[in-house]
Amino acid sequence: MLQRRKFLQYVSLATAGTAFSLGFPSLKSAVANDKKEGGEWNYDQLGPETWGELSPDFRVCENGSQQSPINLEHEGTLHAGSLHDLDFNYHLSVLKIVNNGHTIQVNPDPDNHLKVEGNNFDLLQFHFHHPSEHVVYGKHYPMEAHLVHRNPRTGELAVLGVFFKEGPENKILNTIWKDLPEHESKEHAIIGHINPLQFLPVNKIAYRYNGSLTTPPCSQIVRWIVFEEAVTASKQQLDKFAKIFPNNARPVQEKNHRLIIEG
Ligand SMILES: [Zn+2]
Repeated sequence: MLQRRKFLQYVSLATAGTAFSLGFPSLKSAVANDKKEGGEWNYDQLGPETWGELSPDFRVCENGSQQSPINLEHEGTLHAGSLHDLDFNYHLSVLKIVNNGHTIQVNPDPDNHLKVEGNNFDLLQFHFHHPSEHVVYGKHYPMEAHLVHRNPRTGELAVLGVFFKEGPENKILNTIWKDLPEHESKEHAIIGHINPLQFLPVNKIAYRYNGSLTTPPCSQIVRWIVFEEAVTASKQQLDKFAKIFPNNARPVQEKNHRLIIEG
């Protein structure tokens, strides 16, 4: 059965032309961490197990078959080698920061773009989860950053996942961490200039799969690209975020025979 499934996956990959060209609805307005989409939610009393019941708009959190995050491992993964299809067009950018009650979110200038398999995406924002949301062979990293991009034509999202492991201090992170808002605030403070490319690991080999937002409304419109190589952050840096957000990670969801491509 496993062999047969693998065979079918190869066939569908070949006939689809590109692995991610099928199956995305054209939702125009889904943006991660946007509380205006529905009711209140959090990681405590109104936690992930309840999200599907908190609003009609959140139903897919409970009954969706392509939810994120997931456990990433080599079994059932198609090894595509290096796909060489991530074309970064990021710039040194003025950053604004906000604690939106669910995470620390950083908003860069609007002129940062990413091309994935020929499709253009705009970098909207990046934010952090503690511990990591995706797990590798069942193991969490202490932190994960999500760089959220949107295709302005289709509304589809492409999210880059970056794992952080404990190690040497992360100088780029320091630019943001020196001004970390401890409480929920709508205020945006300009915190400095960085090029978002500096956040990413040197090795761009990544796990890729079709999934969802990891927060309500859990829309299944995300091309996930999660880098295998982790970057480092010092224990002090990790602790500083953990003090504000002890746990803002959604538990892993069923993979449901989805194809993961490594490349
Ligand atoms: Zn996220």
